[in-house]
Amino acid sequence: MRFRRNVDLDPSQVEDRRGAGGLGLPGGGIAVGGGGLGLVGLVIYLLVATLGGGGLSGPLNNLDGSTVAQAPPGQVLGEECTSGADANQREDCRIVADVNSIQRYWSGRLGGRYRVAKTVFFSGQTDTGCGAASSDVGPFYCPVDAHVYIDLGFFDELRSRFGARGGPFAEAYVLAHEYGHHVQNLLGTLNRRTSETGASSSSVRTELQADCFAGVWANHATSTGYIASLTPADISDALDAAAAVGDDRIQAETQGQVNPETWTHGSSAQRQRWFRTGYRTGDPNSCDTSRG
Ligand SMILES: [Zn+2]
Repeated sequence: MRFRRNVDLDPSQVEDRRGAGGLGLPGGGIAVGGGGLGLVGLVIYLLVATLGGGGLSGPLNNLDGSTVAQAPPGQVLGEECTSGADANQREDCRIVADVNSIQRYWSGRLGGRYRVAKTVFFSGQTDTGCGAASSDVGPFYCPVDAHVYIDLGFFDELRSRFGARGGPFAEAYVLAHEYGHHVQNLLGTLNRRTSETGASSSSVRTELQADCFAGVWANHATSTGYIASLTPADISDALDAAAAVGDDRIQAETQGQVNPETWTHGSSAQRQRWFRTGYRTGDPNSCDTSRG
């Protein structure tokens, strides 16, 4: 995966809160994922299921009254991530370029229906429109403020905890999945009944559609002007990451057994299948995951 050296990046699509530290909620609020692992009332859209006993410790819910540190403006990214050449050099600039590419595609596809959504880089914990969140929940989309949140440390966990190969296009897949939820939000198809679980539940169908939308973008990625080339190895890295975050794989590793009734995101095979469907067709209309 290489970016066009001379393409201008738009770092204003990313807000950099890394190092802001210690963010909390003003006077209470909804802690994301409140209630633990039941997902009842969960209003954020994750890449991976929250893990039972797997080390994702869940939401911060004890920050009532703590001081809210305002995030510094993303000046560093604005100065340092200005071109595709920067994206070829630095991970954070690469994510800026991914975000630019993903949104270029969807704004072209949806026209006036599209609204640019910011990605927020944070470290540790941050305040969101959906409540205080910790990086323990992994990357997510908050439909209330229409922001994607990610601690870039997740990409290390993708390799070390989830056993993925990683790679730049695996990272792009993660962002494209979350923007898939943004597209669902804009189209009014974002599933709100997140308490349903199971291999054919509405939760899983929503997640698989986000994977399919990620594949659709991948199909068009080189025509957005940002990405010069993708190789079969890049697509393979995305599929590898999709498999690594499959519910069955995670359950097998963290619980020693697989319970399809509690799936929220779909199996490794399902997630790969729907990414592949989107990638093959390049058409969001092929992402009707309600048809199995
Ligand atoms: Zn998701």
